Amino acid sequence: MSRPVRVRFAPSPTGPLHIGGVRTALFNYLFAKKHNGIFYLRIEDTDQNRFIPGAEQYIFEALEWLGIAPSETVGKNEKFGPYRQSERKELYKQYADQLINSGWAYYAFDTAEALDFHRKQHEEQGKTFIYNWHNREKLDTSLVISKEETEKRIAAGEAYVVRFKTPVNETLYLHDIIRGDISFETNLLDDKVLFKSDGMPTYHLANIVDDHLMETSHVIRGEEWLPSMPLHSLLYKAFGWEAPEFAHLPLILKPIGNGKLSKRDGDKLGFPVFPLEWKSEEGVSSGYRENGFFPEAVINFLALLGWNDGTDQELFSLEELVEKFDLNRVHKAGAKFDPDKNKWFNHQYLQKQSDESLAKSFAAILSEKGITIDNDKLVKIVSLIKERANFVSEFWEMSNFFFEAPTTYDEKAAKNWKEETPELIKQLIEVLNSIEDFTSVNIETIVKDWMTHNEIGMGKVMQPFRLSLVGALKGPHLFDIVELIGKEETIKRLQKAIATL
Ligand code: GLU
Repeated sequence: MSRPVRVRFAPSPTGPLHIGGVRTALFNYLFAKKHNGIFYLRIEDTDQNRFIPGAEQYIFEALEWLGIAPSETVGKNEKFGPYRQSERKELYKQYADQLINSGWAYYAFDTAEALDFHRKQHEEQGKTFIYNWHNREKLDTSLVISKEETEKRIAAGEAYVVRFKTPVNETLYLHDIIRGDISFETNLLDDKVLFKSDGMPTYHLANIVDDHLMETSHVIRGEEWLPSMPLHSLLYKAFGWEAPEFAHLPLILKPIGNGKLSKRDGDKLGFPVFPLEWKSEEGVSSGYRENGFFPEAVINFLALLGWNDGTDQELFSLEELVEKFDLNRVHKAGAKFDPDKNKWFNHQYLQKQSDESLAKSFAAILSEKGITIDNDKLVKIVSLIKERANFVSEFWEMSNFFFEAPTTYDEKAAKNWKEETPELIKQLIEVLNSIEDFTSVNIETIVKDWMTHNEIGMGKVMQPFRLSLVGALKGPHLFDIVELIGKEETIKRLQKAIATL
């Protein structure tokens, strides 16, 4: 690698950051860290019409939550600042002028109405109007009027745009780290607008100028930007600047069917496509954070959307990803988004959490229900149930019987409650009453001894016992439940079952 690695994430704050954008940020982050480089973030807000309040803050908060915050950005190590393009506005005009003076760009004065007219006329003939080499000398441009005339019209305040003068009859041979060698015919490109008379650059000009000034070594971005690659590489040539290397990441595809993952897929199948919840006039879009995902799990599943390390390994910490990430191992083909697999990842990361920290999250849910409980006890409960949970939010459903006696009994399970059951349960209560050391293993030994001694079949006692305590035939090891809810409560629930069932 010839120059120091400096890569960027360059979102436009036009709404909440989509999960695909987060993956772009992640791959940039991993690449930077792997090569001891810099990951910076630039806000591309030159299109003021599409500005959405709160979107910028959302982007920072999302990356912060995921642990992949940039090391240079708005308000942070502004070595190449400002990092917000709207604050760099004054800077771009000189670059547009430079291209005009060197013959790489021209002024175009066509009004919106004139362009509309051309478009319609082409449509009527079944053609598409493209502004480029084949008609730019027939349109209202500085290519066909004198320098004086051009200056006069600009001085008079006439609206204009600056367009790139794409070279004619050239084949561009370009290289993309992921896609390999690609070629483009310049005759098929249109002369993109670079700058407008309101003083604002367009995305293309601002993006290239800033990538150059901010010393970007690699441009890693989504595949949707691949069609811009020929123009961008021509712009570097026109300015006489060294171009960065390019890597276009594969699309993220819908879980079912074909095509790009969209917000609507998320709504339809009930999974988030945003890292954090986003509220707007159109409603609330759910986020991975609010859905109880651990940031580590989100990082892990995003990393595997289009990349693997060449083995079957699926679980990677961020540190491990930094160590193993390689742009050469990113696939060309689109990566299917799999919401069920994402839950599996969360399950894995939930198991890695300490019982103490899970208990803390669970305590917050309990306190909303007005339940307070001894911390040691809660840690124990968590240790018994977490194995089957994907999310902390499932804990209550899985363990409510630890906190409150059942108010109903599962109908199917209640069929195990036979005529002789009440008598057996009464005997069981006596056995339990006599136990001094009320701990799981001890209770189990004594209860089982009693059954063996009296030749009572296991199922005859164990199922009604569980049903009385839990209200259904579910939950962790029965005697662990018994120990945790305690002797008094256990007996109370058994008596209630006898009275109810
Ligand atoms: N502002 C562009 C976007 O919204 C940046 C594209 C690029 O990375 O060049 O994605």
